Amino acid sequence: AADRRAVTVAVARTPGQPFTIETAYLRAPRSDEVLVKVVAVGMCHTDLIVRDQHYPVPLPAVLGHEGSGVVEAIGPNVKNLKVGDHVVLTYGACGHCAPCVSGHETYCKSFYEHNFGGAGPDGDIALQSEDGEPLHDHFFTQSSFSTYALARERNAIKVPVEAPLALLGPLGCGIQTGAGAVINSLKVRPGSSFVSYGAGAVGLSAVMAARIAGATTIIAVDVVPSRLELAIELGATHTINSREVELIDSVREITGGGADFALESTGRPEVLEASIEALGGMGTLGIVGAPKLGTKASFDINSLILGGRTIRGIVEGDSVPQIFIPQLVELYQQGRFPFDRLVKFYSFEQINQAAEDSTKGITLKPILQIA
Ligand code: NAD
Ligand code: ZN
Repeated sequence: AADRRAVTVAVARTPGQPFTIETAYLRAPRSDEVLVKVVAVGMCHTDLIVRDQHYPVPLPAVLGHEGSGVVEAIGPNVKNLKVGDHVVLTYGACGHCAPCVSGHETYCKSFYEHNFGGAGPDGDIALQSEDGEPLHDHFFTQSSFSTYALARERNAIKVPVEAPLALLGPLGCGIQTGAGAVINSLKVRPGSSFVSYGAGAVGLSAVMAARIAGATTIIAVDVVPSRLELAIELGATHTINSREVELIDSVREITGGGADFALESTGRPEVLEASIEALGGMGTLGIVGAPKLGTKASFDINSLILGGRTIRGIVEGDSVPQIFIPQLVELYQQGRFPFDRLVKFYSFEQINQAAEDSTKGITLKPILQIA
């Protein structure tokens, strides 16, 4: 493997089992690819449900999809990035289908292949183990649980060098999902009411965004008291512990009849059903929380019709990352989007501790410090 670079990766080999830290070999960037020296990478719920095979990404695989780092080398067709640029890595998309060319890359017709395929869309695998075995990669067009990651120009988003690079990776997935759902998808209005069902990394990002958008009633719902306390510090005007009180009645009471806007990020069908019931007239619910494939929920059809209510699914907060990620960085720098409050740093070697703390609800958003 003379033309390949030795890298250190965390490999998911067996569902439900810890990641293993291994040496691997990564090929050089081609075409519009960039090689990124990873500085840090966030851990998202999606990494863990893929490791545990709720989504059938082939194993062994190198996951990680909230990377940030420095451009180390570029392929011959890269136009707008150069060596030394600071970048945040985000989701992949083809860039050519109808949703992509109309500015809706989160609904790319080959979104699954570009993010969950375990290889490039053409079947290419860029990583080999020490024994020469292919390691499934291209996870979210990055596989950034690694000291170096291959991304494409379109999903490596340039950020200012003054911004704290090690903190920024989660903007590429979990944080932009919650914030973008509120700002881009739901378009929460000043003076309106907003309910965040779930106060995890996604739900609390939505709470911060609702304050930016000018919602005057902001309710955070969760079952973990420490998360509800943090929600208040981040802009929630009310909290509901759904283990302690009746959820639908509480939301109706606080909002005076039902919510104008709501976001469901718990991934639990019973919470989703309650969030539909607790919508006000002409209210809109966005759904981002992902249960196992095939999960169903139900709602009262006539109440949806007569109330003029809307329910919609949302991927990655409808983010056009080249526009939205720099906006979030600027809001952070102005002190209006303090997402650093969600973060706890770990070393790369502590990846399994980070996963455990995240699963137990001890840590909201782990970031692995790689370099
Ligand atoms: P998380 O686990 O930190 O947040 C989920 C929260 O829901 C937790 O705080 C948990 O305590 C709370 N919860 C669980 N059961 C509850 C109940 N019965 N009532 C109230 N609250 C309850 O996860 P996260 O990182 O915030 O991600 C949230 C979801 O969004 C996950 O399912 C993740 O896979 C998904 N996600 C979707 C997208 C997308 O593009 N659609 C992107 C990123 C993440
Ligand atoms: Zn994610």
